[in-house]
Amino acid sequence: MGLPSFPGWRPIGAFPDGDPGDVGSWLLVRGEEAALLEVPEGLTVRRVQQALRRAVVALRFITASHEHWDHLDADVWAALALAFPTARRVHPRDVRGDRLLDVGGEPLWLVKAPKHSATDVVAVFRGVAMTGDIELGTLDSVTDEVPPATRKRSMRRLAGFCDRTGYHVHSIVSAHLNDVRTSVCWPDLFQC
Ligand SMILES: [Zn+2]
Repeated sequence: MGLPSFPGWRPIGAFPDGDPGDVGSWLLVRGEEAALLEVPEGLTVRRVQQALRRAVVALRFITASHEHWDHLDADVWAALALAFPTARRVHPRDVRGDRLLDVGGEPLWLVKAPKHSATDVVAVFRGVAMTGDIELGTLDSVTDEVPPATRKRSMRRLAGFCDRTGYHVHSIVSAHLNDVRTSVCWPDLFQC
């Protein structure tokens, strides 16, 4: 299956099986460093090591869009901690507000926005936002985890991200790879 690709976003694959609807996992690369985004069931230490070797980068961060098992598998998360002891794991549950990380001198923003789940985080890197399982343009969700008032607040926080930070987002991709948009008008994505 072809994965959407953007500069600096190196797809490792879609997991667990590479089927439509599976969850993407990426190395976000700049210079000699990388962050791993999404730790789904089926991702292996070996696949990550191969991807790092191919990109000739060191792993600085490990993170995920939210705590649902198909995005953050507890066993894979633990295996990666053992295999990459110097990489900092940023659990989506621990992200507050707008968190700014540095990958090879490039900003990696993690924006907390509970909507589909209580731990939702949107990752923004090199002008591309990975929206996890957050449904755009609506307050609806396939889950009932987050109260409507919180969903509304999160959509407003997301809409204000570019104004707040002065950072321009040109494209988005969803975790399940079924929503890819380029040349987006960022605040419009969160009108609901
Ligand atoms: Zn989910």
